[in-house]
Amino acid sequence: MKTLIEIWQEKRERALLNKSFLAQNNKFVQTLRAKNAKKLDVKANAIHEEVFSAIDCLKCGNCCKSIPPILNETDINRIARFLRMKPSDFKIQYTRIDEDSDTVMSYSPCPFLGEDNYCSVYEVRPKACREYPHTDSFEFSKNLKLHAANSTYCPAVYHILERLKGATDL
Ligand code: SF4
Ligand code: SF4
Repeated sequence: MKTLIEIWQEKRERALLNKSFLAQNNKFVQTLRAKNAKKLDVKANAIHEEVFSAIDCLKCGNCCKSIPPILNETDINRIARFLRMKPSDFKIQYTRIDEDSDTVMSYSPCPFLGEDNYCSVYEVRPKACREYPHTDSFEFSKNLKLHAANSTYCPAVYHILERLKGATDL
C-alpha cells in the first residue's frame, strides 16, 4: 500500500499539484469560511492527528527544502547562542530580508537540513518551524489561504484538506 507521502509525490510528479490544483483548493477553503469556525478547528485538529500519525516527516522534509522559515529576533538570538555565534554574524551568514520585509533563512534547502532530513538545530529551531504547517493550533480557520498554498508543498496539509473535502459532519 502506498504511503501518504508517496501518494502526494506521485501527484506532484504527474504535475497534478499545479496552479489549477491550487486554484481548486483556494476555492475549497473559501467554502470553509461559511462553516462554524470552532467546529472546523476541532475537526481539522482531529484530522491533523490522524494524518500525522501516518506520516514520517523524516521521510519528507519538503518544508525545509522549499520554504525558507521566518526568523524573529528571539529565534536568531537562540540559534546564534546554540551555534556559538554573534547574532549579527548569524544574520549575515544565514538570513535575508524577503519581499514581505520579513527576515527569513537565506536559502532553500535550509542550511541546517541534513541529507537524512534531520535538522541540526532542532532543539532551538525557529518558532515558524515548530508551528509548521499550522494545522493543529485550533486556529485552522484563521489560516485557510495558507493551508491551500501549503497543500502543494506539504503532503500532510494536502491529505488534511482532502479529508476535509470528504467530511460530512461540518
Ligand atoms: S531550521 Fe531546521 S526545521 Fe527549520 S527549516 Fe531549517 S532544517 Fe527545517
Ligand atoms: S512538508 Fe509537511 S509532511 Fe513534509 S516534513 Fe514538512 S511538515 Fe512534515
